Amino acid sequence: MSSDSGSTPLPSPSPQGSPAASAQSAEMQKSVERLSSTLASTLASLSNATAGNAASVVPSLDPTDSKVWSPSQTETFSRCPRLWDLGRRWETFNPGCWGPERLVGNAVHAALAVWMRDRQRFPDAPTPLDEMDNKLGEVIGDEWPDDAPEVYTPEGAMVLARKALAAVMKKEPVPLTAKIVAVEHSFGESIVDLVYLMPEGLYVLDWKTHAKLEPHYRQARMDETIRTHQLWHYAWRARQKWMHSVVAIEKVAVALQPSVWVGKRSEPITDERIDKWYEGASSMWRIMDAMRAGRLPVHPRFEGCGIYGGCPLLVACHMHGADESKFEALNLKRKVWR
Ligand code: SF4
Repeated sequence: MSSDSGSTPLPSPSPQGSPAASAQSAEMQKSVERLSSTLASTLASLSNATAGNAASVVPSLDPTDSKVWSPSQTETFSRCPRLWDLGRRWETFNPGCWGPERLVGNAVHAALAVWMRDRQRFPDAPTPLDEMDNKLGEVIGDEWPDDAPEVYTPEGAMVLARKALAAVMKKEPVPLTAKIVAVEHSFGESIVDLVYLMPEGLYVLDWKTHAKLEPHYRQARMDETIRTHQLWHYAWRARQKWMHSVVAIEKVAVALQPSVWVGKRSEPITDERIDKWYEGASSMWRIMDAMRAGRLPVHPRFEGCGIYGGCPLLVACHMHGADESKFEALNLKRKVWR
């Protein structure tokens, strides 16, 4: 797996030209203009501040000096800064009954990566079905837990994985004429599942597996594509890396229950919209930087308490004032960093 944040021009430019050929420098230019326009008013407000240390709690305005936080960290921060902060020290997942769905999802993603890597290297070769099937078996065999409930078997998981993989392939999620640019490419803080090139520009695609998706929720889940921070992050990174316009963000969702279902949503985007996204994201990252460094207090956001099945810290946070000295008595587990 490669990992870098440098830029790599694409060898085959779009016939319609490349509006993002200088995306990095344009982005930088816009950042400098934004910075200079806001700097004067900020300095004025700081000079009016009565406390001599007011500047120490104001996050830097320079968008280039913030850390690039991963999509998962940023999404947790958006949900609730306190949850994000406590999540560094405490396990914050909701322990539920184990089921094989996550494992099946991992196996299907791994097999799709085999398929796309093969297309990248040998665009005209037949689909490597045996290799993909072996990958399913390998992931399920390697990751099957010793203490899995007896009601589940690796053989049953394999049947489900094969069904899901076949359904994705039948959907033809990536056009046959596409040039595969990257598969599971790491940008350092994030990994994009797939980037491919069409004459009009780059597409970034994310595979998602849902353990269960009732038919009446499918439309809503696909509609989330355009609001998915993670996909915008990949689009911004892909444009920076390959110096080419990203024209769409895409999600291919697989549901395993109540029956295997595959949906694809492709949302057109533009350079201007990526710029706007970056403006908002970098602003949030600077606040995250400031909170992590103790220059801003971490606050709770109660809107995050009831979503995604409820916050796992609900009792500790609301009934015990987020007092970490009481967390172990509340059966919360301290994170172990290896
Ligand atoms: S219970 Fe609510 S406020 Fe407290 S950490 Fe969780 S999401 Fe944040």
